[in-house]
Amino acid sequence: MPVIHVDLDAFYVSVELRRRPDLRESGVPVLVAGTGPRGVVMSASYDARALGVHAGQPTVRARRLCPDAVVLPPDFDAYAAVSANVMAVLHGFVRRVEQVGLDEAYLDLAGVPLRPAALGRLIRLRVAEEQGLACSVGIGPNKLVAKLASVAAKPDGLREVTEDQVRGFLRPQPAAALLGVGGKTAEALARFGLHTVADLADTPRDTLRRILGAAAGDGLHALSRGLDERPVVPQRTERSLGHEHTFPADVDDPETVRRTLLDLSAATAARLRAAGLAGRTVTLKLRFADLRTITRSRTLPEAVDLTPDLHAAAVGLYEALGLRRARIRLLGVRVEGLAPGGRPQQLELGGREHGWSEVERTVDALAARFGSAAPRPASLLRSSLRNGPGGGNHAPPPLVHEARSTPENPR
Ligand SMILES: [Mg+2]
Repeated sequence: MPVIHVDLDAFYVSVELRRRPDLRESGVPVLVAGTGPRGVVMSASYDARALGVHAGQPTVRARRLCPDAVVLPPDFDAYAAVSANVMAVLHGFVRRVEQVGLDEAYLDLAGVPLRPAALGRLIRLRVAEEQGLACSVGIGPNKLVAKLASVAAKPDGLREVTEDQVRGFLRPQPAAALLGVGGKTAEALARFGLHTVADLADTPRDTLRRILGAAAGDGLHALSRGLDERPVVPQRTERSLGHEHTFPADVDDPETVRRTLLDLSAATAARLRAAGLAGRTVTLKLRFADLRTITRSRTLPEAVDLTPDLHAAAVGLYEALGLRRARIRLLGVRVEGLAPGGRPQQLELGGREHGWSEVERTVDALAARFGSAAPRPASLLRSSLRNGPGGGNHAPPPLVHEARSTPENPR
């Protein structure tokens, strides 16, 4: 069962450089780091690393090593949004994806018809072209070897280690390269003269058990021989996803409600597509001026991930309530019954959905590339409603910027 490990290179810094061409062109080292007196480096550009800077190092020390560096505070919202887009790319290739943190993932290639190296090259190409980011890809017969292969491939490379190359690949590596061998364990091993993976592999298992304890000894014995049974475990998908908007002043105008529902639908649809998800149940949430809150749901015949479908369902639910001049404080649109896939590659020529899909995908790509400077989904959609898909993007300021995603289920 071959496994691919994908690891984005200097991820936080790369996201910053992508939206700061001035920094990219200046060529100065860039750090994303806490700036307080006890701040630490979270991500360092490769030219900063060449000067000895690394993640986890106190920022004060990094500044001393690299006085010219530009130090940026972390913007985790931006990193999470870009991460979701990258993970959506991976989900487009392989069904079983185990995400680790924001910038790493294991892919289970069982049943995938492409050769692993061909798939790895495709992934690197797509992530570079669509997301403007470099990643390193490691391929191995299991997670351990795939991970160490991606480390060996860095930066911006691909390394495949086949079954019969595992031994030669692992043996020269430091013992600490193996999973779970932290500072303390490495020190304990070093006291017994065990420095490399080869040293471990050539040590009887009982000896390792005596040094490290039974469980750790057994584990390290197996890993040192390149044996790793851990499966790729795809995350449970989110069960629901949505956006809400609280009005600065209560509203009773149906036109404002419909327009806000369009913004909320667009924001929700964009997140669905970014996560590679689609859902069948659309829930409208309404909170009135007196704080009474109601929800109404409708289950659609098929899973959807496009704005017009969500908006039509939400407006239908709103109109079915027959509210007359009720003063509304908050509106929410939520999609439940999520399943992976959606219909990312649906290409019905000339079909309405194709047109919408194309527009929305363009917006997704712009938003991913330029972050908050890009036209927001709803604003481009509004201009598209007037001009047709591909129309101008000189749109009025969007309403969605105040929408908050809410993790809790509305009911
Ligand atoms: Mg990384």
